[in-house]
Amino acid sequence: MKVTTSSFISSQLTKQQIKALLLGDNDQWLFQEADRICRKVFDNQVYLRGIVEFSNYCRQHCHYCGLRSNNRNLERYRLTEKQILAAVDNVLETGLKTIVLQSGDDSKYSMFSISRLIDAIKQRDDVAVTLSLGERRYDEYQQWRQDGADRYLLKMETFNRQKFNELRPKSDFDKRLEHLSYLKELGYQVGSGIIVGLPGITIDSLVNDLIALTALELDMIACGPFVAHSDTPLCSNNNGQVLLSHRVTAILRLMNPLAHIPATSSLEVLDKGARTRAITRGCNIVMPSFTPTEVFTNYTIYPGKNASTLTIEQRLEAISQQIQSQGLNPTISRGDSKRKSHVS
Ligand code: SAM
Ligand code: SF4
Repeated sequence: MKVTTSSFISSQLTKQQIKALLLGDNDQWLFQEADRICRKVFDNQVYLRGIVEFSNYCRQHCHYCGLRSNNRNLERYRLTEKQILAAVDNVLETGLKTIVLQSGDDSKYSMFSISRLIDAIKQRDDVAVTLSLGERRYDEYQQWRQDGADRYLLKMETFNRQKFNELRPKSDFDKRLEHLSYLKELGYQVGSGIIVGLPGITIDSLVNDLIALTALELDMIACGPFVAHSDTPLCSNNNGQVLLSHRVTAILRLMNPLAHIPATSSLEVLDKGARTRAITRGCNIVMPSFTPTEVFTNYTIYPGKNASTLTIEQRLEAISQQIQSQGLNPTISRGDSKRKSHVS
């Protein structure tokens, strides 16, 4: 079955249509249509967000991730508040207006510690703060929102309950979903997503993932390919496919025209140039890492992550050139959600 007309309402793709597109039934049309919508909605702009990965300690055991607590081969680090703010200052010097703070699920950073960071960042500049700290307590989410945090990213990774339980043994499927609802209630711009190509996930399961992500009416949707890590239980599995990941984000663009959809670094790790292709296939965000050089290579979620030997300035320049080479404009602005609930 081919999807050949652009006149249908994209968000109402049927299961059969999504499946056909995932199987590559009409890549040319899919990618062109995703690109057309993306350029129109974001006015040819690609937003740059500066990410600071401040701790690689994690209490979780996710089977896919190199930061899992029982990986003894990883050199662990925790940045002090002072070091985190120094990295934030490096982001601010470049003019970028979104700071993403990310870490493993590391409760050593107390509610107050994260509050102090949010407060210090907000005092520096009118920038958006995105938190990606994993599952935390409800009172913590509430406090950080009151402190001025704008966005929270918490990926479901898969909506297949059985696979979720298998791959995230210390996490609870329903609770993670509840956390997303609560974050939304608090007024955060909320992001979630999946890892494309997790072992054992069928195409039908992937169809359900896309429908579930769309039903959540998210402000941000982050999906990138699985990259196998040698120090995890999934070490002997194949990596996810870049083309399938491009299809996933392109279909999500059709189904969620206003959502922010990043071109992930896992694409680039698997295939040099894949991240640039993603921004011509529906993605509108790139997140360069500002994690300090001393610990940069230790944030090894998967092999190849933070492996670049270029300086941050050189990496930023390269990203900007890649974006411009596609007739798009890199932008430093906040890029708040375009969903009605967040447009003032
Ligand atoms: N600990 C927080 C959490 O899990 O929400 C945030 C940090 S976690 C390292 C950020 C993301 O890395 C996860 O949401 C997951 O999608 C991604 N990730 C982890 N292992 C991966 C792998 N092997 N391949 C691709 N993405 C991976
Ligand atoms: Fe920890 Fe996040 Fe990695 Fe899971 S994905 S092990 S929660 S850092």
